[in-house]
Amino acid sequence: MGTLYCFFLVPDPFSLTPCFFMLRSRLAPTPSGYLHIGNAVNFIITWVVVRQAGGVLKLRIDDADAGRCRLEYIEDIFRQLDWLGLDWDEGPQGPDEFGRLFSQRLRFGDYRAFLDALEEAGHSYLCDCSRKQIRAQVANGIYPGLCRHKNVITSEGAHRLVVPENTQVAVADQDIALAEHMGDFVLWCRDDSPSYQLASLADDLADKTTLIVRGADLLISSAAQLFLAQLLQQESFAQITFHHHELLTCPQGMKLSKSDKVLSLQAMRQQGVLPLHFYQATASHLGHDPQGIRSLQDLLLLDISL
Ligand SMILES: [Zn+2]
Repeated sequence: MGTLYCFFLVPDPFSLTPCFFMLRSRLAPTPSGYLHIGNAVNFIITWVVVRQAGGVLKLRIDDADAGRCRLEYIEDIFRQLDWLGLDWDEGPQGPDEFGRLFSQRLRFGDYRAFLDALEEAGHSYLCDCSRKQIRAQVANGIYPGLCRHKNVITSEGAHRLVVPENTQVAVADQDIALAEHMGDFVLWCRDDSPSYQLASLADDLADKTTLIVRGADLLISSAAQLFLAQLLQQESFAQITFHHHELLTCPQGMKLSKSDKVLSLQAMRQQGVLPLHFYQATASHLGHDPQGIRSLQDLLLLDISL
């Protein structure tokens, strides 16, 4: 494994002195369920990489989808991060501060501006299809562009992005056939909230994120966001380093999900699982011997290259 970069020297065209490029990353849970082991390992990897590099870590809670987000899940995020011993440099320090200053619901104007820009450039259209109608057309549920040429007029539809059929997006050394995986994906939902793809992109741009660590299940989302950024001429997004890690599975080989309460961190804590078990699971996940890990600080000594 190679060594992790700390700072890059980049030329500053306005002076002869070099300026420094600071690594910036984020922990970005969605409060639509209790945190689970997959979240924990993702957060620990991100924390270790940022701390090793002397970078800046932000806590960002993706609550744009008000229908699915609940206060108890927001409280759970702070409780479990505290239990895991993870700190962060920017973002809310508790649920109250989150609601007052950091909720995505305070930033709808910014997301809307991106939607408007896409609309004006002819990259989006309105769609009034129900989920049932889409499923009746395609078994896989990937939207086949039914309304792309219909000129739908409605105040209750979703805004979708035109993803041309042959769109290929390079992300983390892979070429993703975006139309095949996502179809014309949603930018703005029927309940008048931004989609995850749009809000996540806008936030990473606003936060000047330089590293995104995600589970492999979000590889296609990364491709979707890179494509969106290109359409919005937000070139800095293409400079982000993406790292997609394998998803942790429970012993039965089942994929973990937040709806699986047995595997929530709070449930595991009640069964006697300790933070150390997560530190060791993270080391093992990164290809290191977990036996040598006795604390979170021990992870900082590992040679990790993303
Ligand atoms: Zn439609």
